[in-house]
Amino acid sequence: MYGPPEWRALVETLEIEKKILLLGEPAVGKTSLVRRFVIDKFSDRYLATIGTKTSRKLMDFNFPERGLHIKLQLYVWDVFGQSGMPRAYKIYFKGAEAAILVFDLTRPMTLAALERWGETLRSICGDVPGILACNKADLDRQVSITDEEISKKAGSLRMASLMTSAKTGENVETAFRAIGSLLCAPMVQKFLRGELYSQRPEGKSGASRWKPLT
Ligand code: GDP
Ligand code: MG
Repeated sequence: MYGPPEWRALVETLEIEKKILLLGEPAVGKTSLVRRFVIDKFSDRYLATIGTKTSRKLMDFNFPERGLHIKLQLYVWDVFGQSGMPRAYKIYFKGAEAAILVFDLTRPMTLAALERWGETLRSICGDVPGILACNKADLDRQVSITDEEISKKAGSLRMASLMTSAKTGENVETAFRAIGSLLCAPMVQKFLRGELYSQRPEGKSGASRWKPLT
């Protein structure tokens, strides 16, 4: 079920690729969050994202007690913020398996708008998991958005929420790792149920690569 006995002692490496979306109103900090996550930089300048930008980052998830190591190649699609382009959304959202929904803690309308982003996401991608990023946590909340309002929205979107700041880096890695864990969870379950097949080990290293059946 898990391959020949001599493989079982090894830590298996599973390489997977997943696409995620960064969604939210213009200027909430989507591009800044990706930039902080991928190259660990921040800029105060605002350049509206034209079209869609894709970044990628390789992440490692270790499950030593399961004998499993997942290398997750994360493709992050930073989708432009304009609304009302349903045909473009269908193209850009296709194949995404999770999303980070971002709003700006200083602008309540950006939180309200996430309802529609969530609906659009799930109408195209199905019931995919997500994280709510309450961004610009470094700024004083000039307008009051209460914690209750945030948890209510998070509840209706069925997502966990995190206070983030692309400027200070607060919780940026944590948010992307949370998404990564959500993406890895079904693969770990499949691995444990023996539903992954393996390629034969190549070379002397004996390292084998597991590939998902689907
Ligand atoms: P996008 O349109 O959602 O991609 O937003 P951007 O990432 O381009 O950011 C819009 C503006 O907000 C830029 O001027 C950024 O410098 C600023 N910004 C983004 N994230 C933060 C943050 O966490 N804190 C602060 N203070 N400013 C931020
Ligand atoms: Mg942008």
